[in-house]
Amino acid sequence: MGEALVDSYGRTVRDLRISVTDRCNFRCQYCMPEEGMVWLPRTDILTFEEIERVARVCVERFGVDSIRLTGGEPTVRAHLPTLVAKLAALRVGGDPDGRGVDLAMTTNGASLRLMARDLHDAGLRRLNISCDSLQRERFLAITKRDALDAVLDGIDAALAAGLDPVKLNCVLMRGINDDEIVDFARFGRERGVQVRFIEFMPLDASDEWSANRVVPGAEIVAAIDAVYPLAAVEGRGSQPADRYRYRDGAGEIGVIASVSEPFCGACDRIRLTAEGQLRNCLFAVDETDLRPLLRGGGSDDELAAAIIGNVGRKWAGHSINQVTFIRPARSMSQIGG
Ligand code: SAM
Ligand code: SF4
Repeated sequence: MGEALVDSYGRTVRDLRISVTDRCNFRCQYCMPEEGMVWLPRTDILTFEEIERVARVCVERFGVDSIRLTGGEPTVRAHLPTLVAKLAALRVGGDPDGRGVDLAMTTNGASLRLMARDLHDAGLRRLNISCDSLQRERFLAITKRDALDAVLDGIDAALAAGLDPVKLNCVLMRGINDDEIVDFARFGRERGVQVRFIEFMPLDASDEWSANRVVPGAEIVAAIDAVYPLAAVEGRGSQPADRYRYRDGAGEIGVIASVSEPFCGACDRIRLTAEGQLRNCLFAVDETDLRPLLRGGGSDDELAAAIIGNVGRKWAGHSINQVTFIRPARSMSQIGG
């Protein structure tokens, strides 16, 4: 293997998040405005070969061993299983007999009924499905799509296809869906999926975020613990979620408290946007454009140097809770959540 990708604070990058499109078939209120999104021209979007090349440099040279596909909505990108198969064929450190990457995806779940098996068979292993209400009318109000049944079917299809684990991502917003915390916990226990509650972050395109709309992780844990007693699971490592197990053995929940309890000190990820910008933080204000290298005859050494340079500029952490915080110009769907 080549060198490890270590930033100036000593954190080693192991996880690459790849946005495969900025487009989406939903309009979640905390992510995209209902009207007026301007999509990237198709020619600006990286091809599967270009994405694979960046991933190959990260995996073979730098030992990155975890890749997550995201977007926008990754399932709206045509022929997605073809990309999954390309990434599943990569070997960590470039050893042909070595291990493959841990390949995961985050999706809104609405198309999984049709796609879950193909994605699994192409090599996808882990799946996170986003769902922010179990009530049909409210789901429609949040996503602007009457698609709760499709998402629930998608969860079943993912489990049936053998994707493991299947987790459910739920963004909680004060006054919108914070009365469903225990309903989600019950749903997860019954379906055998880990629900991950995510604090609302200032990355919405509509600029509706404010600190008092955030439901703090501690409040989420307390609400569930009062009904289904919980115990903290030790050893989170570089994972963003604090995990809690049900004391009666009925599974776990995760809480991603990016705003109230940032976990930047253990962050091990970088992100590639759909048009080839490398970002070292969700909240980064500076990006490295890899597309000129990919399309202009750049060598793998040049790509690797650009990646090292970007990682070298990774900051200690975001400053959402401080007056110095600068909101990124892009929304979550444009960065790749
Ligand atoms: N379309 C896919 C989906 O919704 O799962 C993948 C992309 S989406 C941007 C990735 C994750 O980011 C989702 O779980 C979504 O709920 C979350 N997300 C989007 N905007 C957010 C925000 N402002 N704060 C917290 N989470 C957000
Ligand atoms: Fe689309 Fe996902 Fe953003 Fe919702 S959160 S609008 S599903 S990209």
